[in-house]
Amino acid sequence: MRGKNEIRITPVTDLATSPTRCLVVLSGGADSAICLHWALLRFEVAEALTFDYGQRHRNEITCARRIAMRLGVPHRVLPINSFAALGGNSLVDTDLPVRSQEAGQLPNTFVPGRNLIFITLAAARAYGLGVRDLVTGVCQTDYSGYPDCRATTMQALEKTLGLGMDAEFRIHTPLMQLTKAESVRLAYAIGAFPSLALSLTCYEGRQPACGICPSCVLRAKGFAEAGLPDPLLATS
Ligand SMILES: [Zn+2]
Repeated sequence: MRGKNEIRITPVTDLATSPTRCLVVLSGGADSAICLHWALLRFEVAEALTFDYGQRHRNEITCARRIAMRLGVPHRVLPINSFAALGGNSLVDTDLPVRSQEAGQLPNTFVPGRNLIFITLAAARAYGLGVRDLVTGVCQTDYSGYPDCRATTMQALEKTLGLGMDAEFRIHTPLMQLTKAESVRLAYAIGAFPSLALSLTCYEGRQPACGICPSCVLRAKGFAEAGLPDPLLATS
């Protein structure tokens, strides 16, 4: 497992000699906002890509747009209506209440296959742009047990995409092994706090955040353990 001290940030001055372009999956949440900042230090960001999949917290898309605009990054929203049509989880079915995770079970916010589809579509978009580096905020530490956030899933997907599109894709997951507190510290170190003030984490889609849903609780725990104030709360 990597520790936070092993994160290497490429100095901005190096970008002139390595103008590799990347595509960042930007949900509008805190983790993907941190990843966009991380990517800007290492790559020329060709595009930030947000999926409109019928998520219950619709203003996440607005948050993503604001974060990309603030950073001057080209932004695209791609519609996918299949997850909402499938239903069966509380993220796309507003009739289902968000429930906390019960022992040994996935939370009812799990959207089966979501990251597999998102990253496959991101790769398809990147392919068209001539981009081979993809950045996503998936994380297997402190996560809710989502199997499509695991490093092994991403490694397998990277291989599958390479075979399926005959292109050498690289999936970068800078937060994969970080705890939420370590992600917060990373965000602070790379100047991502102003973007976190625009991000949305709440499963209820509330601004100010509801503070009681599992996602709000996890975010609050991360900031508390990092010993830093959440800029979202400072502005709400
Ligand atoms: Zn909430």
